[in-house]
Amino acid sequence: MSLDAGSGDLPATGGGGNGAVPGGDPSRPPAPSVAAPVAVATVAMTSQQRLRLNPNNDHKPDSYDDLQLDFSPAIFSSLERYLPPSMLGVSRDDKVKFMREILLKYLPHGERNRAQRHREYRQKIISNYQPLHRDIYSMHPSAFFVPTFLKAINESTEESFRNIMSEPSPGVFTFEMFQPRFCELLLSEVENFEDWVNEVRFRIMRPNTMNKYGAVLDDFGLETMLDKLLEGFVRPISKVFFPEVGGSTLDSHHGFVVEYGKDRDVDLGFHVDDSEVTLNVCLGKQFSGGELFFRGTRCDKHVNTGTHSEEIFDFSHVPGRAVLHRGRHRHGARATTSGHRINLLLWCRSSIFREMKKYQKDFSSWCGECSREKKERQQQSVVSTRSELLRREGESTA
Ligand SMILES: [Zn+2]
Repeated sequence: MSLDAGSGDLPATGGGGNGAVPGGDPSRPPAPSVAAPVAVATVAMTSQQRLRLNPNNDHKPDSYDDLQLDFSPAIFSSLERYLPPSMLGVSRDDKVKFMREILLKYLPHGERNRAQRHREYRQKIISNYQPLHRDIYSMHPSAFFVPTFLKAINESTEESFRNIMSEPSPGVFTFEMFQPRFCELLLSEVENFEDWVNEVRFRIMRPNTMNKYGAVLDDFGLETMLDKLLEGFVRPISKVFFPEVGGSTLDSHHGFVVEYGKDRDVDLGFHVDDSEVTLNVCLGKQFSGGELFFRGTRCDKHVNTGTHSEEIFDFSHVPGRAVLHRGRHRHGARATTSGHRINLLLWCRSSIFREMKKYQKDFSSWCGECSREKKERQQQSVVSTRSELLRREGESTA
């Protein structure tokens, strides 16, 4: 049996082309990149009343390779053959302007196509892949989690969470979460999935633009279970510790595993996640190295600013133990120097927070740099008020 993702539009890997920076000196971090999930940018080109119905194959289109455009240069070149005859003689800039307007108009349609293709991709996997451990495809809290974690979730108070957690650096929470047996089953299921992928030569989509190894759990049937994990177990904690970044309104997720070691990804460059809150749990196995390094939380505008000394924090993974942090908390993973390390990642998102963020400029409640700027403004205002008072006093006693 040989299966393929089909149309050829699905990338085999994330490409990793968005500036992942391996190694380097994390005390002076390079510009972080956003590790975004692999997206397939397509544009639907149907029923354009202003374009020709059939391409003019005699026409030789311009090259758009040298321009910074929001669509692939190849799309402009191929679309050019469909331009009305009157447009063929105009300048390249005018052609770009005309075609861009058309493309933008159809973007939502293209997005719909992308979603539809992803649904078909998942359907193809789910109808052909035979799960090994069906038990982990639905939520069984007492089998998945350690009792201390369950107790804290049942109480769901800051105190109950603090009792089982440590916060070794502001905004980074670590705690025992999964039972060893659950980690084993999940690892074994992932291995089974990968064996199947290799056996039938299925071209899979990798978890994000920075990891070349690993698998999206949502794509092979675990989406419902991970939804429950988000709603019942991550949101209650995030509501308490991350309310300022939408922690109480987390409503969607991207769940995947990443693999590090020999013949896998070695390390992971400095970056921020495409999430409001990230749950990162080490599932095993035997390894050394692979520490996470954190360097402060930043808004979009300040993502490339320097690190303050109190923001420097390194964390060593322990199998079964979870790390919870804001997605905008800049971080990376050092090289896994021996063995294999596999981690479960749940990127948790809030659509409400994302919508609200568009209308805000000040993120001093969570961005280290916005907060520093705000303090500076306040200090300056105190200084100027004081000097104004002194000046008036001087006038009145003169
Ligand atoms: Zn900021």
